[in-house]
Amino acid sequence: MADAFDNILGQPKVREFLRASVVSERVTQAYLFVGPAGSNKTTAAYALAQALLCPKGPTGPRGGSCGACDRCGRIARRKHPDVRYFAPAGANGYLVEQVREIVADTSLAPIQAEKKIYILDRVDLLGASAANAFLKTLEEPEDDVVMILLGRTRESVLPTILSRCQVVPFRHIPASEAAGIVSQNTGAAADQARQAIEACGGSITAAVAFLTAPANERLAFRSRLLGDLSRLSAADDWDVVEMARDWVEASKAPLDAVRASQEAELAENADFLAKSAIRQIEARNKRQLSAKTSEYLRQTTAIVRSWLRDGMMVAAGTPELVINTDVAERLTELFAGADAGRIAGAISRAEACDKALAYNVSPETCVDALLFDVREVLNGSGRTD
Ligand SMILES: [Zn+2]
Repeated sequence: MADAFDNILGQPKVREFLRASVVSERVTQAYLFVGPAGSNKTTAAYALAQALLCPKGPTGPRGGSCGACDRCGRIARRKHPDVRYFAPAGANGYLVEQVREIVADTSLAPIQAEKKIYILDRVDLLGASAANAFLKTLEEPEDDVVMILLGRTRESVLPTILSRCQVVPFRHIPASEAAGIVSQNTGAAADQARQAIEACGGSITAAVAFLTAPANERLAFRSRLLGDLSRLSAADDWDVVEMARDWVEASKAPLDAVRASQEAELAENADFLAKSAIRQIEARNKRQLSAKTSEYLRQTTAIVRSWLRDGMMVAAGTPELVINTDVAERLTELFAGADAGRIAGAISRAEACDKALAYNVSPETCVDALLFDVREVLNGSGRTD
């Protein structure tokens, strides 16, 4: 029988550990999932939330949630009001104020379920003073609260946090295995799976979503970007400015569907939810929209980086290492004999663009600057820093 834990791709040990804890009722109130980016920690956190809140409970022969009921569905779509996700609000990590709000929230009763699940991403960015505001809650949480903290490595998490949690280690999933997992779950060919993983910054779960988006919308987005890049060397300044504006627009366009489904869901629940709960859901919806926008913008820069990296492979005389094989021919025309140092410069500027976006610099400005840089590289006049 399938259950929610099956979605934790590439982490068989984690799957068995969490399943066993739920079945034998050895669930603790504070977990710390540690593992590199792309190791499926977030998916695992939502699967555990399903297992803990599913009204059918761990009754199946393998335990875990049913994964199919209304509540499991809401949790999987990240729309259940009692499963809360938090990421650092400050540029350098969690703010003390933010942690105080989370702590205050834990003392409120659940809205729909019997328990509340708090997922705190990047607790390696929880500094000493923010952590202090959090320790008591972590040590003696309310009975109906389960905390799932996510961090990159054990060493990067403060010892005071580490010692209060059940640590669950996630393994690094090698690239070839990751592509296999994505293929298996989407039916995509190995090449396409690798391209999707690259576009999603290494995340397997995101790559599966990328390949299975409605109407192949993400794949069309990728083709459009690669098409524009292949024409960039002949573009004049105004073409580049327009291209940047189009890309940013295209990153925001699929959000209309997300917004419509949020509004429908809210209307459906409006009758039986208290005003304060509705306000909470509205705030969460807003966060979800801005998280989606930045995810799509990150995919934009990731696709540019991946394309430039391929250009580097061509310039280095190893075209067999190209990942975006569907545009291999054009890559060869553009990059054969190109200066590897210049390409490397453009790649690091794409990374800088990514960082700037995280700090809320205007996306048009970042993408615009990036495209001008790439054009310089293509036309052989790029800086070699
Ligand atoms: Zn269920």
